[in-house]
Amino acid sequence: VIKVNPEQKFTEPPRRYSEGGIVKIMEEKGIGRPSTYATTVDTLVNRNYITRRPSIKPTLRGKTAVDILENSFPVLIQEEYTANLELKLDDISRGNLTKATFLTSFYEPFMGKLDNLVKSLKPEKLDELCPKCHNKTLVRKYGRYGPYIVCESKGCDYKRSDAIIYDQIGETCPECGSPLVERKSKYGKFISCSDYKNCDYKKPIETKTRKKSKAT
Ligand SMILES: [Zn+2]
Ligand SMILES: [Zn+2]
Repeated sequence: VIKVNPEQKFTEPPRRYSEGGIVKIMEEKGIGRPSTYATTVDTLVNRNYITRRPSIKPTLRGKTAVDILENSFPVLIQEEYTANLELKLDDISRGNLTKATFLTSFYEPFMGKLDNLVKSLKPEKLDELCPKCHNKTLVRKYGRYGPYIVCESKGCDYKRSDAIIYDQIGETCPECGSPLVERKSKYGKFISCSDYKNCDYKKPIETKTRKKSKAT
């Protein structure tokens, strides 16, 4: 779990870090290990919590994650928690702690808290009319695997994964009316419908600076 300075609320102009700066802070605080410093930033980028361009900053998804953690799970984002977790992992690698002991003492209470957190998140009515029945409002609900959007109407089966996971680009899908989002595959970023489980609308990202030629 990556520590975010608790004083740093994203509503204030936050201090931006360089990649080297992030690694330096991790070293100072005992978060991560030399083997993971370099990949941590990559992992955060790959999971769409932060973006590198134009400079390193949190995505909408990253900000939402921090908000939820700050409000519901403050212990988790304390740097001592992560540093302590690293110490336990070190103990396991040295054979001073068994995996089973670790899992029961540390990980399982964590998963229990996580389930409670998910249960405590109230469905949230969105300011968006269902694009399928055009009759009821959409609602955001939370499951173990993240948020999703459903239609309020019991008789309507509209469902899509939550665009919060991806950054909305402020346009709606010309085929179904759901918001368009920026997604990522191993070939790079692209625009797709947020209801991509049911709607296969996709378009490339118009890049201003450079065009990548498709190698494969
Ligand atoms: Zn509906
Ligand atoms: Zn669509």
